[in-house]
Amino acid sequence: MRPTVHVIGAGLAGSEAALQLAERGISVRLHEMRPQTGTDVHQTPFAGEMVCSNSLGSTEIRSASGLLKAELELLGSRYLQIAAPFRVPAGSSFSVDRHLLAAAIEHALVDHPRIEWVREEMRLLPPDDAPTIVATGPLTSPAFARELSRFTQRRHLFFYDATSPIIRADSIDFSRVFRATRYDKGEADFINIALDKDAYNAFVTALVEADTVDIPDFEKGVFFEACLPVEEIARRGPMSLAFGPMKPVGLTDPHGSSAPFAVIQLRQDDLHESLYQMVGFQTRLKWGEQKRIFRTLPGLGNAEFERFGRMHRNTYINAPLIIDATGRARARSSLFFAGQLSGVEGYVESICSGLLAARQMARYLTGKPPLPLPTKTACGALLHSIANAAWKNFRPTKFSFGLLETEAVSAKQRNVSKRERKELQAQEALEILQKWIHRESF
Ligand SMILES: Cc1cc2nc3c(=O)[nH]c(=O)nc-3n(C[C@H](O)[C@H](O)[C@H](O)COP(=O)(O)OP(=O)(O)OC[C@H]3O[C@@H](n4cnc5c(N)ncnc54)[C@H](O)[C@@H]3O)c2cc1C
Repeated sequence: MRPTVHVIGAGLAGSEAALQLAERGISVRLHEMRPQTGTDVHQTPFAGEMVCSNSLGSTEIRSASGLLKAELELLGSRYLQIAAPFRVPAGSSFSVDRHLLAAAIEHALVDHPRIEWVREEMRLLPPDDAPTIVATGPLTSPAFARELSRFTQRRHLFFYDATSPIIRADSIDFSRVFRATRYDKGEADFINIALDKDAYNAFVTALVEADTVDIPDFEKGVFFEACLPVEEIARRGPMSLAFGPMKPVGLTDPHGSSAPFAVIQLRQDDLHESLYQMVGFQTRLKWGEQKRIFRTLPGLGNAEFERFGRMHRNTYINAPLIIDATGRARARSSLFFAGQLSGVEGYVESICSGLLAARQMARYLTGKPPLPLPTKTACGALLHSIANAAWKNFRPTKFSFGLLETEAVSAKQRNVSKRERKELQAQEALEILQKWIHRESF
């Protein structure tokens, strides 16, 4: 009889891993500390909660997250299948009602006859011979982080990350904003707040001068570049927001006489359209400062905040030292790491690593050798890159086309536009993945 697999953490990676294993006939003991022990960021008691943005990224395969999702669909991702009915309008982005989706993931796990829930915080790793997938995420509990520190001989790390505010729709003055999607892609799904040059400059000054939540001196400056707080971006130069999350390209303000100088976008956060999230506005400003400054924006004079942006620690292992390209611990063959803790960054990347850890675990349990994915596929390139990165300044990694093996740019692909090349690379990746799936089934 095959042994039970311990999956620690029922987040995006752990939920996907548990469902994959269970549907392959493998018994799972799923350890999740919430709701008894919460984290600074999760808002619901449910598994698989998307903690910040409600977007799983673009659906276009020439975009990085579009290709990753297309591969995950081929691999039969349960998370994406369960998410499909909860999509909310957001142009070409796969955005969902986060709360309804988390409740549905929880049901799928609770209802599964091969999944046994253990609702308590894990403080120690299971014994060496117990097959285990660790997916406790960036908010791994402090006690378990200490245990991982012991296992990895202190080669685990952290940086600081922040979330964006969410605003109640009924508190927005819709006569002062406009609905549109950049370049009219899809329906007019976003709410846009246009600023002229003077308003933009005043807003940037207010952000730069506002009070932020303190972090200890010895940890100062440990931010993740891909998710910088909005006030940190503002500090890098007066135009950095206008070229970043507030870029006005592809948008025309129907109320304005000239093109907007900068734009803040709000994206629907729930199916009932009662909540909107400020896109790219992760912040560590004090809550009173967020209220004061964001209420100066047109249409947000009476804004009510469902959730303020906040900062938190983000824990991860030094992947190149600890795991191989299948997510398996180099020092213990029965142990896999998945999700953000394993060194990938992002929702879709976390689902991907959970799915692949489960498939590799299934091979391990049947005595088959590890079968890494080809590096011409997005999933394979992602896991290969974290296992083989330079360990010194290792930071969690998102998938990008630059990670794909370069030979993927064939002669046919060389004389075409960048956009067409990505399209061709994506198609090639999907074909290669299909062959890998066929090979893996033997
Ligand atoms: C604040 C924040 C905002 C983010 N925003 C985005 C975003 O907008 N877009 C994006 O693509 N990515 C974002 N990320 C990055 C990442 O995609 C998410 O953190 C994602 O949820 C990671 O999935 P995971 O499965 O690794 O971890 P999680 O989804 O966090 O799941 C880990 C689970 O393990 C549980 N757990 C922790 N310790 C223990 C323990 N000792 N015992 C038992 N259970 C435990 C937790 O309760 C949790 O349920 C964000 C991360 C953070 C922290």
